[in-house]
Amino acid sequence: MKVVIFFALLAVASAKRLFHQDQVLRVEPKGYQLKVIENLGKRFPNIDYWTDLSEVRPVDIHVPLVYLSAVKSFLSRNRIDYEIFIEDLQVAIDNQKSDRPTQMSLATFDYNVYHTIDEITAWMSEMVSTYSFVNLDNVGASFEGRSIDALRITLSTSSNPPQFVIDCGLHAREWVSPSTCLYTVKYLVEAQPGSAEYNILNEMEIVVIPIANPDGYEYSWTDDRMWRKTRSDTGHVCMGVDPNRNWDANWSGEGASSSPCSEAYYGPSVMSEIEVRSQASFVGGLSNVQAYIDIHAYSQYWMYPYAWTRALATDNPTLGVIGQNSVNAIYSVHQEFYFAGPISQVIYVASGSTVDYMYDTLGIKCSFAAELRDTGTYGFTLPEIFIQPTAEETFAGLKVIANAVMAGTCQ
Ligand SMILES: [Zn+2]
Repeated sequence: MKVVIFFALLAVASAKRLFHQDQVLRVEPKGYQLKVIENLGKRFPNIDYWTDLSEVRPVDIHVPLVYLSAVKSFLSRNRIDYEIFIEDLQVAIDNQKSDRPTQMSLATFDYNVYHTIDEITAWMSEMVSTYSFVNLDNVGASFEGRSIDALRITLSTSSNPPQFVIDCGLHAREWVSPSTCLYTVKYLVEAQPGSAEYNILNEMEIVVIPIANPDGYEYSWTDDRMWRKTRSDTGHVCMGVDPNRNWDANWSGEGASSSPCSEAYYGPSVMSEIEVRSQASFVGGLSNVQAYIDIHAYSQYWMYPYAWTRALATDNPTLGVIGQNSVNAIYSVHQEFYFAGPISQVIYVASGSTVDYMYDTLGIKCSFAAELRDTGTYGFTLPEIFIQPTAEETFAGLKVIANAVMAGTCQ
């Protein structure tokens, strides 16, 4: 019996992917080197780009131990300098979160720790039962049948107040994103009369989707901390699709991958992912959406369309002003610098992105995409101690967008 239990425990333990002595390397490719870095991924398909390929920003690459020396000599042979940003990924993962009891009650809910999907689901229910001006709405279902939910928060008496949709957790491993959505809801429901956030709720409806990719998020807790995509079965060995490359916005174009094993796989067909279709019809069905933000991590960017082309959006001047005001407001909170600009210029061209769909197809003028903390010291393994400052500064940026809506700028 003891032997059976031992092997059962071993099976459970071995189900979780481990990252012992894996490293995250930073390169800053210029000119021809960008192609070399792109080829690196073809040569070593198991490396994982943590940040998108870019000629103007650093590129961080997670390299499993087994390929580490080969990748390093490949880089040296091609005269590309690299810096080791994370020495041992498993150590960074182990240090990211504290061991603690399950939290299912709003009264004792700790916003400064990362939460499982069950905890977040319970928290959403309690938000609705505690605050009369918070309503739960169903966005749709995930591939594995989980419910994707939104909290709709407003004190407005208007029958059709302007709406601001905030979406978090589209990429599973970017844990600080859902945590920031939770904090955002907390700030709103606890707003005191006369405060800026109270005024926002008086005039607008804020719609928060804390976990846009629940299957991926759950999987990043149970099996693979570095999971990014959905969990759909596309008929290949590698599962899942990048939900931020699957939208009908120059789908399958530049800056997205046709390879099912790539973290930027655009999927078997346009809008193939139920999570993407669900959100498209949910947001498309709202009556007065004037602002939208898709919140990711990391790199500290506050961006707007376009991702798929270097051409500027019609509303580029307006979005540029809001973007710059947002990063100024963010800076004033904890003196953290975020970079504002169109995605294709801040990072690189990316096709099939959420923000381009929201802007072009749904016509949401003030559409943004954020990358929260940090700038690579911890990357996706950002320790819990940074959740609160990240949420605080992000909320300052979100208020700038809400103020633009209230000023009529986003109509
Ligand atoms: Zn992301």
